[in-house]
Amino acid sequence: HLRITAGMEKIGVLMMAPFNSYLEQELDKRFNLFRYWSRNPNELLAQHSEKIRAAVVNAGIGVDAELIHALPKLEIISSFSVGLDKIDLKTCEGKGIRVTNTPDVLTDDVADLAIGLALSVMRKLCACDRFVRSGAWKNGQFELATKFSGKRVGIIGLGRIGSAIAKRAEAFDCQINYYSRSEKQIAVNYKYFSSVTDLASNSDVLVVACALTPETTHIVNREVIEALGPDGVLINIARGGHVDEAELVSALVEGRLGGAGLDVFENEPDAPEQLLGLDNVVLLSHVGSGTVETRKDMADLVLGNLQAYFSGHPLLTPVV
Ligand code: NAP
Repeated sequence: HLRITAGMEKIGVLMMAPFNSYLEQELDKRFNLFRYWSRNPNELLAQHSEKIRAAVVNAGIGVDAELIHALPKLEIISSFSVGLDKIDLKTCEGKGIRVTNTPDVLTDDVADLAIGLALSVMRKLCACDRFVRSGAWKNGQFELATKFSGKRVGIIGLGRIGSAIAKRAEAFDCQINYYSRSEKQIAVNYKYFSSVTDLASNSDVLVVACALTPETTHIVNREVIEALGPDGVLINIARGGHVDEAELVSALVEGRLGGAGLDVFENEPDAPEQLLGLDNVVLLSHVGSGTVETRKDMADLVLGNLQAYFSGHPLLTPVV
């Protein structure tokens, strides 16, 4: 249970964007909240940078080195996300700034969504929904789709979310293949591949579930897309930067890739124009953790980490 601790209302906390109203209200109740989006950032920093001891960010807007240097009293960054690719972790480490994220609480939702996307693309759920709504059903049957159960599912990054996707796909009698930097001893039923291209060649569905780092940027490139092939399906619930989007678009348009289910894009909130008319793609607006239940848990974890830090207790989910 999160209690309001006396004295904390003087601590300056900078929230970067209005990504969760419950979190915003609670931060406002407990701390001296500054809303980065509500006014000119330069003015805000000029007047208040000395008061700000914490920053609250999310998957869309983080804190880069420039902003870290502009906040001389910054002690902690608490992210309303598990992925930390928008935070300059090296600069944080160098300056002794603590960083927290929201692991585990969102794992089920993101894994559910990955399976939902695979089913939507392969069983053409969104296209069939459009078929009914447009009245086209009255003129004939919908085209046949592709079976998901029993297919080979390749997972890039067998971490918390990757493992939860594997567990779900197992219930669909899928063969689980994966690529990670190292083979996992606990995943004895799963087949390890030491190359992403080999993983793609041996999978019907390729799911991206790793962290976005310099090494995993464009981990799904032209060669991987070719290896997945015209009957293969790419699911990306991780980050847009994992996929060479220009290559993905041309492969889909030219029929060199079977289909794609995408929750994330390289330049959010823009999705590539050429994909909008394709029936073999399902496009979502980065909603992997977007349920009422999970977003509440994530908000409580952000608040819990800040409360722990400023009352001298161990952080709940520390990264740095
Ligand atoms: P996690 O438990 O840390 O798993 C990430 C996995 O990535 C690790 O197990 C790691 O496996 C793998 N990895 C790291 N570097 C790699 C590399 N160079 N090559 C291959 N694999 C690498 O994190 P998680 O909780 O599962 O979250 C995974 C990602 O999902 C997050 O980073 C985030 O970007 C994304 N996500 C998206 C949404 C959404 O809304 N769509 C929501 C939540 C999370 P090894 O150590 O074995 O290499």
